[in-house]
Amino acid sequence: MCGKCSLMNPKTAEWVSKRVGSDADRLGTSGFVVLCDFDGTITSFDTAEFILRQFAQGDWEKYDRMLDEGRISLEECMIRQFELVHVPEQVIIDELEKAASIRPNFSDLVHFCNRNGTPFFVVSAGLDFVINYYLDKMELRPLVRMHSGTSYFDGKKIRFTFPRLVNLEAKSFKDDLVVTYQRQGRKVVYIGDGLSDLVASRQADIRFAVSGMRLERTLREEGLACAPFEDFAEVQQKLNRLLNCQ
Ligand SMILES: [Mg+2]
Repeated sequence: MCGKCSLMNPKTAEWVSKRVGSDADRLGTSGFVVLCDFDGTITSFDTAEFILRQFAQGDWEKYDRMLDEGRISLEECMIRQFELVHVPEQVIIDELEKAASIRPNFSDLVHFCNRNGTPFFVVSAGLDFVINYYLDKMELRPLVRMHSGTSYFDGKKIRFTFPRLVNLEAKSFKDDLVVTYQRQGRKVVYIGDGLSDLVASRQADIRFAVSGMRLERTLREEGLACAPFEDFAEVQQKLNRLLNCQ
């Protein structure tokens, strides 16, 4: 194990010495993949919750409780909640524009990953048109891959479809992607903030969690190592050390 990298476990160090994926060109050359949640992680607060508070007609919070109790999946929760929103995409974007901001140095982290042959995915259960709006604004669309639901206003309500799960044991499309890349021999870095990131984060090889938020607290309670952060510069610094260990 590299002494410089407290985030790297012994199996990672062993794997790094063997790593040469057959799809290295497509998936980058570093052997790592970064998966990053959007709401509350890239943005300063949960934009999906903000939209529901502003626009949902009905008891959307009951679906959060059902998700917490394990009675419905993350995907079903989002589908049910956004069926209660009856406004078009542009109204939602205009409202968010007044309120949401991006966590510092996100753009630098994406460029860093791109320079270092490390694919960067936004993995989100939120509204893809909102995510794409912010990525376009930061001119990051060509550098970021999306793994999210597809959402649109059908004239009456917001409709959602989610990626089909590849791995039978997956709980949601988030942990499904973690396992998919691990099975391709990649080491997965997961960055998140909330309970919807918990299963994917548990499964990941290296974990970052927004400082003081539910994901960080829960991982600590479970005795799982994670690096708390408030600014993406902290993530970049640690990733830089990790990549230099190879
Ligand atoms: Mg989140």
